[in-house]
Amino acid sequence: MSYCRLGPDSDVYAIRHVDGGYRCCGCSLTGLYNYTVHIATPTELLLHLQAHRAAGDMVPRYAMDRLRDEIREYGRAGWAE
Ligand SMILES: [Zn+2]
Repeated sequence: MSYCRLGPDSDVYAIRHVDGGYRCCGCSLTGLYNYTVHIATPTELLLHLQAHRAAGDMVPRYAMDRLRDEIREYGRAGWAE
């Protein structure tokens, strides 16, 4: 399930992975080509998306809102698969 995909409103492709945890696919913050960052919790992913914004990347508000909703609903550690 994706929080945001690359497109006119997003420079970031962030998902919750079916195997658990979260991914930032092709993360531009790493400086590596097409590198996927593995992220354990929604809190960490939210911080990661904020780091993208700080670096000048577009991250849609709905992605951040959805993560905040999940943290409220499931806690800081996120989904227990
Ligand atoms: Zn990233």
